[in-house]
Formats: sequence, structure tokens, C-alpha cells
Amino acid sequence: MSDLIQNWKKQKSSSSAAQDKKLKKQLQKHKGKALDKFAAQLHEQVFEQLDCLDCANCCTGLPPLVNNTDVSRIAKKLGMANADFEAQYVTIDEDGDQVMNQSPCPFLLEDKHCSIYEFRPKACRTYPHTDEQFSSNLAYHVTNKRYCPATFHILERLQLSLP
Ligand code: SF4
Ligand code: SF4
Repeated sequence: MSDLIQNWKKQKSSSSAAQDKKLKKQLQKHKGKALDKFAAQLHEQVFEQLDCLDCANCCTGLPPLVNNTDVSRIAKKLGMANADFEAQYVTIDEDGDQVMNQSPCPFLLEDKHCSIYEFRPKACRTYPHTDEQFSSNLAYHVTNKRYCPATFHILERLQLSLP
């Protein structure tokens, strides 16, 4: 397991609500294209040093959004009718979003690979959303650092670099 994941495990719950608020304020002050570009660079840097196959925390505990295009694509690849796929794997969450109905994800294998990787939901491809329009989701990222070690380290590096 990479040092970054070990390090996250030790530190993920260490910041207080006040520290998170301070971080959000610091990021808000800099929000915009330059921050998005910097976050995207740090995203590349962190993912070069961390292997998601050592983690799979998102696949274990955060059911992904599954839009209608995802349903059609995945059902077709699995040789299922859309309605059957939805009945077996999809539910509506408390926010009214269509999401995978089981956690850990039913497509997560024991070795932490995804059994539908090539045609997985868009939300799985784009998670943790740190390489595009980072500024649009600042509160989300600050909360998400407790679930995603990559987000945690991207925010740490941002925090150290921003005035
Ligand atoms: S579909 Fe694959 S990538 Fe998405 S949560 Fe499930 S196991 Fe993870
Ligand atoms: S939680 Fe973050 S670091 Fe872990 S597998 Fe998901 S994207 Fe990768």
C-alpha cells in the first residue's frame, strides 16, 4: 500500500470543523481558472504516486450515480434488458438521484478491480472530480477528503501552496 494511503488513514479524521471551514475559506478566496489548473496538476501528481487498487474506498462506500446512458451501456454489455438491470442494481437515493443500490458496489471484485471497468458509470470515471472545474465543488472536496486519499493529498498540497 502506498505511503500516501497509509498517511491518509492516520490523518483523515484529524482536522476539526473549524480547520475545514478555514480551508474552505482559503480555497474560496482563490477560486477560478488558475485554481482549477493548479488542482488538475496536483491531481496528476498525486495519482502518479497512489494506486487506486490499493484503496477502492469509493467503490466500497460511496454508491455511484448511474444515469440513463450508463444503464443502457452497462445493461447492453451484460446482456440484460435496461429494466432488469435497474431492478437488480439501481435505486433512488434520498436526494432523488439514481444510484447503485449496493455498497460495496456489486461490480467490485475481491482484488479491488472493477468487473465492468471498460463500461463503468460516468461518475466512476470522473470521481473524485479534482481534475476539472475544481472550484465548482469546493465544499464537496473538503468533505470528500475523509473518503478519498487522493482528494486529501491534493487539498494538503493546495493548502501548503496557496497564500
Ligand atoms: S462500477 Fe466499478 S468503478 Fe464504479 S463503484 Fe462499482 S466497482 Fe467501482
Ligand atoms: S477513494 Fe480516491 S484514491 Fe481511493 S480508489 Fe477512489 S478515487 Fe482512488
